[in-house]
Amino acid sequence: MAPEPLGERVSRLGLNPDIEQIIQDCGEVGFLLWRKGWCEGAAGNMSVAIDFPNYHSSSGPAISLTYPVPDLNGQCFLVTASGKRFRDISKRPEQCLGIVRIIDGGLAFVVEWGFLGGSRATSELPAHLAVHQQRLRSGIPIKAILHAHATHLIALSFVQRFRRDPDLLMGLLYRMHTEAYQGLPRGISYIGFRVPGGTELASDAAAALTKSDVALWSHHGVISVGESMDDAMDLMEYGDKAAQLFLMISQRNDSGAYLSEHDLRELKTAYHDAVARRASS
Ligand SMILES: [Zn+2]
Repeated sequence: MAPEPLGERVSRLGLNPDIEQIIQDCGEVGFLLWRKGWCEGAAGNMSVAIDFPNYHSSSGPAISLTYPVPDLNGQCFLVTASGKRFRDISKRPEQCLGIVRIIDGGLAFVVEWGFLGGSRATSELPAHLAVHQQRLRSGIPIKAILHAHATHLIALSFVQRFRRDPDLLMGLLYRMHTEAYQGLPRGISYIGFRVPGGTELASDAAAALTKSDVALWSHHGVISVGESMDDAMDLMEYGDKAAQLFLMISQRNDSGAYLSEHDLRELKTAYHDAVARRASS
């Protein structure tokens, strides 16, 4: 028997069509990321800010947040579950995803939907909420946040000279690929090694993802933001492609292969309007 189309499976969840579309998008992005090898096992997490009406009011317990998010009080987020696989989101969305509502002035949340079978919100929920809050405070709110293990960018976080000088890394990535210049006008921020799930990571991720839309988390992974999960994945792909090219060229020890200052000036002129639009959006 042919597998049930994803759209039909999601449409039986009883949620409104906009949320069902977001769930479908998360499932498709999750599967694509798994195919890329960027979310091995149960790695990776996602969150999307959504409108979720109060009539679904939860009777579940309030769960304390380790990182207060008063600016998000009352807001709802679709988030991935801890210990669940990205590649299973489409097959079992009610287990792999949940909707949380922030309550108690930003000190706790309740589960409004999902997390069936005893699953719970991703352990990186504090970092996601911290980023949503900081972008809101900065006047550049975003809807979607994606964390995955983009292999080539992670590999570059092992390089000592880039750890000492993250700006050097970004300068080199720009010079590897024209798409990196156009696709990442706000650059890639750098977060040093941090313990996963901690409040230090949450505050550092919030600061990094206010300066840019992508952050490389040393020895761990990448966090990107966007208006949709597809947008966030786009940015991760731009950065990782440039990193992959850098690693390939490095093996040939041919530094003359990079885009020159002249090339970058030409790109700047050619892409000026598009880059300005993205940087200000
Ligand atoms: Zn991770």
